[in-house]
Amino acid sequence: MIIKFYLSCIPCFFTQDEVMINHEIKIAFEEYDTLNELNKNDHTLCLEAVKALANSHSPYSKFKVGVAMRLLSGKIIYASNQENVAYPSGLCAERVALFHWGANHPDDPIESMAITAHTDEFPLLKPVTSCGSCLQVLAEYEKKQQQQIRVILYCQKGPIWVIKGIENQLPFLFFEDRLITQ
Ligand SMILES: [Zn+2]
Repeated sequence: MIIKFYLSCIPCFFTQDEVMINHEIKIAFEEYDTLNELNKNDHTLCLEAVKALANSHSPYSKFKVGVAMRLLSGKIIYASNQENVAYPSGLCAERVALFHWGANHPDDPIESMAITAHTDEFPLLKPVTSCGSCLQVLAEYEKKQQQQIRVILYCQKGPIWVIKGIENQLPFLFFEDRLITQ
């Protein structure tokens, strides 16, 4: 079963100032009950993300995150969260994957990115979404490659969410076109 969600912020109402304009932002994503409902490529990519959990270095949070990213060529990049005893020195799995791509495969566009998580501390019953810093990096590379990136959030005991394009995850992303001088 596919469920499409459209979420929107609730507009605020001002009656005193007629100049004020209300804006509404909608985001959309798909929800699937099981891996079997996904297409073959997405199904496979979720299972590859589970494999990536094995290399997570997360002795402090005990919260493993795995990423498998499929490029246009078919190549799959694997990544996982890497923590450090000096906490800020670690990095989320998403940015490990994206920076690896930027450094090694910038001419092979990212098609899809499957993200999963696991911890023995408590059950994960819904998809784990990315932090704002990872979304900002995702936005940068989506803009660079001029092609939307599909994000698949796979939770082994809950629904699977498929989100197309950064605008459906971070509508107020920072991007200042005037900073581009070329
Ligand atoms: Zn992050």
